[in-house]
Amino acid sequence: MKTLEWTGVLDEARLFEELEAARGASPERALEVVVKARELHGLTTAEVAVLLEAEGFKVREAMFAAASEIKAAIYGKRMVLFAPLYVTNECCNDCLYCGFRRSNQELIRKRLTMEEIAEEVWLLETMGHKRLLLVLGEGPRDTVDYMVQAIETVYATKTDRGEIRRVNINCAPLTVENFRRLHEAGIGTYQVFQETYHRETYALMHPSGPKSNYDWRITAPDRAFEAGIDDLGIGPLFGLFDYRFEVMATVDSGWGLIPSRCPAWSLP
Ligand code: SF4
Repeated sequence: MKTLEWTGVLDEARLFEELEAARGASPERALEVVVKARELHGLTTAEVAVLLEAEGFKVREAMFAAASEIKAAIYGKRMVLFAPLYVTNECCNDCLYCGFRRSNQELIRKRLTMEEIAEEVWLLETMGHKRLLLVLGEGPRDTVDYMVQAIETVYATKTDRGEIRRVNINCAPLTVENFRRLHEAGIGTYQVFQETYHRETYALMHPSGPKSNYDWRITAPDRAFEAGIDDLGIGPLFGLFDYRFEVMATVDSGWGLIPSRCPAWSLP
């Protein structure tokens, strides 16, 4: 049984064992798990494995109905949209799936100045946007000073159609001290996708650069929370490894965040 303790170390072997144990799960067992899910107390990774392995129209229909009910119970009739604003495509990492990777010599690199950020924000505001996600790569010029300045620029840019009320950020993992500076600048959600929770695949996909450090990345939400940021976007980039493992790993790391926090899960 999964405990609610998160050590920052994902127990891959246990997740694979749970998937194996769930193989061929009966529809009856899956429907029991769906009933438990509707109680809104969460599921263990072993129970999630049952849902991932179960087959049949009846089970799927029950899952979809429960998902809809749970969403309505927790969020109501609410859908939140935010506009991503890429402030730079400079990056010192070499993620194999990304066009911004350092080894891509054909890409023209660009970093927005504060004036250019204000122009972009002005346009987004005239379209009616109220929430924005600043997106950065990772590199020597992606300093916390630059990020704080960008956040302040967004909040300071106002039009007669309104203003951005919430700035979220997607940036490389930081120290607690630097996360605290973002928090003090007024960011909403900190978004950091693990891309893949499977350590071997992670190493293959991230051959060099600071992002090749799996442990530094997977523990970033914990440091952000310690710094006072209580809304976190985590998740995998589906397609890099077995989706079933990725779902379980996301649930597993999410459990570590839940006891004292309410993370927002973003699944790209
Ligand atoms: S760190 Fe982000 S921007 Fe940089 S190469 Fe990887 S995915 Fe692309």
